[in-house]
Amino acid sequence: MNIHEYQAKELLAKFGVPVPAGYAAMSVEEAVEAAKQLPGPLYVVKAQIHAGGRGKGKFKELGPDAKGGVRLAKTLDEVRAAAADMLGNTLVTVQTGEAGKQVQRLYVTDGVDIAKEFYLAVLVDRGTGRIAMVASTEGGMDIETVAHDTPEKIHTLDIDPATGFMPHHGRAVAAALGLTGDLAKQAANVASKLYAAFLGTDASQIEINPLAVTDDGKLMVLDAKVGFDSNAMFRHKDLAELRDESEEDPAELEASKYDLAYIKLDGNIGCMVNGAGLAMATMDIIKLNGAFPANFLDVGGGASKEKVTAAFKIILSDPAVKGILVNIFGGIMRCDIIADGIIAAAKEVHLSVPLVVRLEGTNVEEGKRILADSGLAIVPANDLGDAARKIVAEVNKAA
Ligand code: GDP
Ligand code: MG
Repeated sequence: MNIHEYQAKELLAKFGVPVPAGYAAMSVEEAVEAAKQLPGPLYVVKAQIHAGGRGKGKFKELGPDAKGGVRLAKTLDEVRAAAADMLGNTLVTVQTGEAGKQVQRLYVTDGVDIAKEFYLAVLVDRGTGRIAMVASTEGGMDIETVAHDTPEKIHTLDIDPATGFMPHHGRAVAAALGLTGDLAKQAANVASKLYAAFLGTDASQIEINPLAVTDDGKLMVLDAKVGFDSNAMFRHKDLAELRDESEEDPAELEASKYDLAYIKLDGNIGCMVNGAGLAMATMDIIKLNGAFPANFLDVGGGASKEKVTAAFKIILSDPAVKGILVNIFGGIMRCDIIADGIIAAAKEVHLSVPLVVRLEGTNVEEGKRILADSGLAIVPANDLGDAARKIVAEVNKAA
């Protein structure tokens, strides 16, 4: 689960991380009121969307010469103009895709004079199985570009969970950023507080870009991207409230309500599978047969009729879907119950595309008989290869 920059900064401030003062705003008037609360003379008006690259982004409605989603303002009138430009308009950045994101919230912050920009992130390093800090002197830029062009400028350090964050980690971060004296102390302090925030919130990532040195020698977090481990959300009710559903893919949001793991993909064959491993194998074998999956969908172990129906509806809500492959292994779940669920769901959603079903496992013969007797145009398959070949053939036939 991701949150907005203003939420991330408010959260980090509670852990003692230095951030500029700022207020969220939902309207032009609120943005001006927010600026009035700030000392000035420089304000920053920032579009709040769950995507980075806002500064260099472009608004669809404003034309190529207009400024992006992070604007400096020197007067309240400039704040007003920036807010009016952004609210309700669609910001396209390198991270949003072509469709862009509509800006519904702004963050108005105290503007600082920047002497230098750094990059500092905390994340889970799957290679070492530890929390890692990633530091670079090349802040304010796209970190993927830095990693590609000048990988030697990115420093990663692991933190042993048995010791937690130690003073030497802080010194290593400061050294990686080339800092000495008081700024080195500040960097060590910021790093330790970010680590505490990461652990304390069960974060999956905290990315600070830029971590800025101000003209008067202070380290400040100017941009923060924070995501949490969804599996730990049950113990952070307060954080769950920060979720902004309008930032999420509607189909993925609907799927989460039914506890279905759904991820939209680019192909035209909808997949309904139980188990993540089987779902991935199904996507692979569709590709092996020359077609592409429209989604990843794991209905989980206990696929009830309601879940199967919801899954069908979500798959069919994607206009790109030209056929569906159901691949279910009945282990705990019996194949006859799954067959009943498929039939009920297919009737309820008025299935209009070819459907290939491969069932295996407990009561498979009974399940197959139920499907055959249903009167629905369901194509049965015997194994995974057979199922993939059949659905690809059906979709090609219909095209
Ligand atoms: P992003 O483009 O979505 O990553 O948004 P950021 O919050 O990182 O802002 C983009 C850039 O705007 C930063 O890298 C800074 O160069 C600049 N910026 C952000 N806040 C301030 C500020 O308070 N003062 C000045 N001078 N520049 C800022
Ligand atoms: Mg940034």
